[in-house]
This record gives sequence, C-alpha cells and structure tokens, in this order.
Amino acid sequence: MTRRPNELRINEQRFWASMARSGEIGRGRTTGMSRLALGDADKQMRDIFVGWCREAGLEVSVDRMGSIFARRKGREDHLPPVMVGSHLDTQIAAGNYDGVLGVLGGLELIRTLNDAGIETRRPIELVDWANEEGARFNPPMLASGVFAGVSRLDWALGRTDLQGNTYGGELERIGYAGPAPVGGRPVDAYFELHIEQGPILDDRKVPVGIVVGGYATRGMRIKVHGECAHAGGAAMDVRRNALVGAAYLIVALNELGWRYHPEGGRSTAAQIEVWPNLTGILPEYALVTLDFRHPTVEGVEKMKAEFDDAIGEAAARARVRMEIAETWRFGDEAFDPECIGLIRSAAEDLKVPYIEMLSQAGHDAYNMTRVCPTAMIFAPCDKGISHNEAETMSPEDAYPGVNVLMHAVLARANR
Ligand SMILES: [Zn+2]
Repeated sequence: MTRRPNELRINEQRFWASMARSGEIGRGRTTGMSRLALGDADKQMRDIFVGWCREAGLEVSVDRMGSIFARRKGREDHLPPVMVGSHLDTQIAAGNYDGVLGVLGGLELIRTLNDAGIETRRPIELVDWANEEGARFNPPMLASGVFAGVSRLDWALGRTDLQGNTYGGELERIGYAGPAPVGGRPVDAYFELHIEQGPILDDRKVPVGIVVGGYATRGMRIKVHGECAHAGGAAMDVRRNALVGAAYLIVALNELGWRYHPEGGRSTAAQIEVWPNLTGILPEYALVTLDFRHPTVEGVEKMKAEFDDAIGEAAARARVRMEIAETWRFGDEAFDPECIGLIRSAAEDLKVPYIEMLSQAGHDAYNMTRVCPTAMIFAPCDKGISHNEAETMSPEDAYPGVNVLMHAVLARANR
C-alpha cells in the first residue's frame, strides 16, 4: 500500500476527461446528449466503456438484458462482490451527467485503487445497467428490474419501441445480448452515485447528498377506447373521441399534482399515443403514460384514490372507456442503514459537507434494495436541471461525491 487509505483521492483530471469523452458520444440537438438505450450511440459508448474496463484489468461480462459488469478481484475472491455503478444511457434530450457520473465515478475509483496498489477483501464489481431511462423501452430501470426479480426476462426482452423494434432484437443488433444469466447471484452491497436532478444541493451549496429514501411513485399506462367518426358528420352529443378523453384525464392528473404541491406531491403526463392521429376523423384509441409522486407512501396512496375517481369522471365526460393497462411503483424501498453509515463516515473523514435527503427520481438502486444492502449518493447539478440538454455540473461539484463513493466502497469491500 503506497498511501494511507484516508489520504486516497481520485485522479480528477483523468475522471473528468472520461466524462468529457462520454459527452462526445450521442450528441443532442444542441450541446446536450441523446443516447437512447440500445441505439448506435449507446453501442459506441458501451464499446469505449468496455475498453476502459479491460485496460483497468477488469473481467467484463454482459448479461442477457445487456447490462455490463466489470469485476475487480478481491483477496477472498469467492465472496459476493460489492457492486457500484449506474447507467450510461440517456433521455432523448439530456445532459452528460445523469447516470454517467455514477458509472464513470465507479470506474475512476477502481483506477485509483489500482494506481495505489490497494487490494480489497471482497471483489468490486462495476455495473452499467441497461435501459435505466425507459425513454425508448418502457418501463424505466428495466434491466436492473429483471436482475432484482421485479420483471420477467422474456417479458422485458419483448418490450417494443415506437417503431416496433423489440428490446431483445436491438440488443442482438448492437452485439450486447450477453450470455450471462440475469441476477440470481449474491451481491454483498450496492452503491450508486447520481446527480440529484433536483435543486436542493445546488441551492444550499452542499456537494454531497446521502439518500435515505425516495419519493413514493406510482406509474401507469391508461388505454382510452373511443370510436372513429366523421369530424363533420358527427354531432357533439354522439362523439366518443379518445383523444378528448385522454385530454380530460391529463388535465385532471395535472390538477392532482397541484393539489398536493404544498406537501411536495407532483404528477406527470409524459407520453400519448393516438390512433389514427389523422385529420378529419375522430380518434378511437389513445394510450397515456403517466406517474405521480409524493414524499410519503400515505400521501401517494391518497393521490392514487383521487386519481382513480378522476379516471371515471374523464371517461364519463368524453363518453369513452378507460382501462389501466400497466402499473409500476417505486420509491418506497428502504436503503440500508449500515451502507448509509459508511457513506456518512466517508464524508466526515474527508471533511465533505453533506445533507441527508430523499430522492425524487427513480433509480436502479431502488431495484437493488431487493437484492442486497443498498445506498445512494447525490451530487449537485446546476439549478437541478436534468432531462434537458442544459443539464450541467462543474467538475468541483462532482469530485467530492466520487471520493466519498470510493471510501464507502473501500470500507465495505474490506469488511
Ligand atoms: Zn439517471
């Protein structure tokens, strides 16, 4: 060991250069990113990432959902690994920080341990979860969900994008339909670093947030069944316009978010598909994807009850039929007190200011709470802007979180 571990710090230049390289892969419309899961840019970034992992001496494997695992041997290599990572895919209009920070932060901590000649008792495994965003293949956090037994593999591989391409087919096309089984193996602990995607850390000028829980989130897809009719010939009182039903529903959902806004609630109508979506004909079908969130489980359940009523009212008003086609939930999972404690100790040892906070967004870490003790670290992003090409953070805002991540992982891997 060349240095006392508590003096160990990441190589800032190398880390930021890797972040910058990632920012060149899958440019967005302006300065941002558009690196949708299993697209060509995702493949290119995966290839670069795998190259970096091999250079760092890691053993790379890919599972059948396309998640990439890069393993650093432990002294007692048979022990379950300490896992660290996040995701390299982005939204269609995004920044270069989101989950990239957590994956390349994990890589940097391994490179730093290599440089310092530090071995750990347990192996450390770096992961890039496939399709965290769910932007192309709904739902989000899909591959970690299969890893954690939340979703079935064959169902996930059959998910389709708007062009009708399947997840499994696209995985084959980019060469990342790996042979490794998905999950079903012991993991010692999971740590994830991510940008906050909210304004709290940036407002308070605190570099590290220790995530102690999440906003309880309920998501669903609602099918609206109406009837085609002539836009001129059909009188108002005989119409069953699916698009109008969807519109009433979306407005009710938005008002639900406003009602709960004082206590931190929020609601999002994110996507709509309409058929036939042409002029001159009333649409007979719409599919609305939405979610709502609240800091507490009791709060989100109250929102859910009110929204159930709103579905009935919107359907009656538009004379259409509505059906909840799919539901998902996350955010009520518990993070592990011991892993949270390791992050807290690391921040205190490094004299990095921190606050404890809830996550407002969904993360792969939520799924991992079902597999092993799990904890998360947040880093600030400018004004909390995320899922927007203006998403940005300064390197000085990134380094403390990576150093804290490194020391927490090191402590756990030597436990
Ligand atoms: Zn993310």
